[in-house]
Amino acid sequence: MNHQSFERWIYQEANLDKDQTNKLEEHLKTCQACRELRQNMKEVSHLFTSSSLLSPQPGFTERWKDRLKEREKKQRVKFTGITLGIIIASTFLLISSVGGQLPSIMDSLPQVLFHSVTQFVNWLFFINQVTRILEPIIQVGIKLIPPAWYFVFAIGFSGVLIAWLFSISESLVFIRRYSDEKTQ
Ligand SMILES: [Zn+2]
Repeated sequence: MNHQSFERWIYQEANLDKDQTNKLEEHLKTCQACRELRQNMKEVSHLFTSSSLLSPQPGFTERWKDRLKEREKKQRVKFTGITLGIIIASTFLLISSVGGQLPSIMDSLPQVLFHSVTQFVNWLFFINQVTRILEPIIQVGIKLIPPAWYFVFAIGFSGVLIAWLFSISESLVFIRRYSDEKTQ
């Protein structure tokens, strides 16, 4: 028996018969590398049995559901905050992109604001749809997705991106036209 065979035995120690176990014990007395390997194996298997295989404690499901609800609530608050932030930031961006014509823009601010908000609601609808489709797939695991689906997703994302770019250009055209009419 050489050292490598004993190493293999250490990985499957639970399946060894009595004779093999005795031989392994003998080898362990003389081989420090195998002793260390076995110690590591024990620590790893202890890690698995002590964490994932513990049976759920009473009320675990309820606590888990509560935590999920709490997390969803937090996410909703965060989502609303981000949405408002994006709307405000984009409004500033749209206004500053036509900075020279600020006075006339100020007159049309309510319309510009309304238009931007409408556009953003459209965008968010798109994003929301996409994430709703993607979320379960991500949860299942990217490894399980056949390669063909990556193309489908790529095309889907391109569509959303084009919709975004189209909305941005439309907003800018709207502002330009409005301020041009004002100055003429
Ligand atoms: Zn050894």
